[in-house]
Amino acid sequence: MDTYEPHLYERSAPGKHGTNLPRLDVPESDLPAELLRQDDLNDFPELTEPEVIRHYTRISQRNASPDTTFYPLGSCTMKASPRLHEEVARYAGFAAAHPLQGDALSQGALRLMVELQDFLGEISGFAAVSLQPAAGAHGEFAGILAFRAYHLDRGDHERVEVLVPDAAHGTNPATAAMSGLKVVGVQSDARGNVDLDDLRRKVSPRTAGMMLTNPNTLGLFEEQILTICDIVHAAGGLMYGDGANFNAILGVAKPGELGFDFMHYNLHKTFATPHGGGGPGAGAVGCTTALAPFLPGPCARRTATGTYELFTPAKSIGRLKVFHGNFGMLVRAWTYIMSLGEVGLREVSETAVLNANYVRVQLQDLYPQAVERICMHETVLKGQINGAKGVRTLDIAKRLIDYGFHPPTIYFPLLVPEALMIEPTETEGKNVLDSFIAALRAIAAEAVATPELLHAAPTTAPVRRLDEVRAARQPILRYAAAAFAKLREDAK
Ligand SMILES: *Cc1c(COP(=O)(O)O)cnc(C)c1O
Repeated sequence: MDTYEPHLYERSAPGKHGTNLPRLDVPESDLPAELLRQDDLNDFPELTEPEVIRHYTRISQRNASPDTTFYPLGSCTMKASPRLHEEVARYAGFAAAHPLQGDALSQGALRLMVELQDFLGEISGFAAVSLQPAAGAHGEFAGILAFRAYHLDRGDHERVEVLVPDAAHGTNPATAAMSGLKVVGVQSDARGNVDLDDLRRKVSPRTAGMMLTNPNTLGLFEEQILTICDIVHAAGGLMYGDGANFNAILGVAKPGELGFDFMHYNLHKTFATPHGGGGPGAGAVGCTTALAPFLPGPCARRTATGTYELFTPAKSIGRLKVFHGNFGMLVRAWTYIMSLGEVGLREVSETAVLNANYVRVQLQDLYPQAVERICMHETVLKGQINGAKGVRTLDIAKRLIDYGFHPPTIYFPLLVPEALMIEPTETEGKNVLDSFIAALRAIAAEAVATPELLHAAPTTAPVRRLDEVRAARQPILRYAAAAFAKLREDAK
């Protein structure tokens, strides 16, 4: 049975309260009658302070997070967020700065933005960086709008297509469509690379550009990346790099040198700023000199006299976010880069890649690898266990919860049947990886001998299998007594 957590409204009782206001020390004033509330405030629950604290603390403890458990959610890079970053982000000069206080009073914050732009440009091999976008998908949108603006600026009006490989993250085709362009799919080949023959068939004078993730969503380095960039460039198109998998190549390869023209950085993935639950992210973007005038603005820069200021690039696609982007995330990413340095960043990627390959090698006899190759920072296996009847990847993922692990990403990328996408990140040591491997090996044995255990999973979590479709289509976002009474009944 699922444990039903009563809503605060259900704990409410008339007369209870959790506030203690000081005695009025100013004269009472007469408010105009039309400003006085006419109806009762009975829309608010009445509760004591401890009840409210316990309620929120208890439900917060139901969260799985990298602070509580191994979280190998492929493509999401759920690395630990060092507490040092939180301390720096809370410095009053950053946290209490007002976005309208002007450049002269914001020199420290602007300097941090300039330095972060410089760091990101250096790490990726790009000439210019904007910190505006709030997420990876937002950065993609900036990039494709910049591609469009670039072509139109040159009087090239025919480029209305964006090439997107079949392994791509869903945000890539969504971005192209939202930008008013047409998505043209490109197949992968048997080694998990872009199929060059298919690419040559699809590229044309209508190609605005190609969106590519490298390493791709199979966790594999695109072996023909130089040729791909050449083919697209020769046709007059531009290369967009989806930088979600940048954690694999820090200090090893620079996308700008591989031939990409524009790329987003998921600061909340690669650069350890916290993410999840729809919280604030940061999807900075970098690009070549040719595309720099089109970047979203404002960006920050150093002046000739050594001060710092905001400016909007000459042909900017415009503003994507109020004020300075999600500034607190920029502080955390800057701190991450400053504390690790050049050598540390390279070690991050080397360890992330080593960890993923360790897991891959220890599991691939039971869980076949989607494409048999050395992987980068994540590995895509298949939940197709020999001799297990009626067991799906979903069952394996749910059973992992009973073993105390957050499940990997499942059923992505779409081209892999029963995909199980594991990204351990560099955060974990061998002991954690070994216990995760042992759990997945035990689950494989259960899948053959006692599949009912997998079908019943999870049994240890506060809730069992959720109706994800109903949750998405008919969400209950406000308290409604009848709806909650029904939920409570259903949970019995
Ligand atoms: C996470 C991710 C994105 C989107 O990034 P958001 O920050 O979630 O918007 C795009 N592509 C890939 C491959 C990703 O893993």
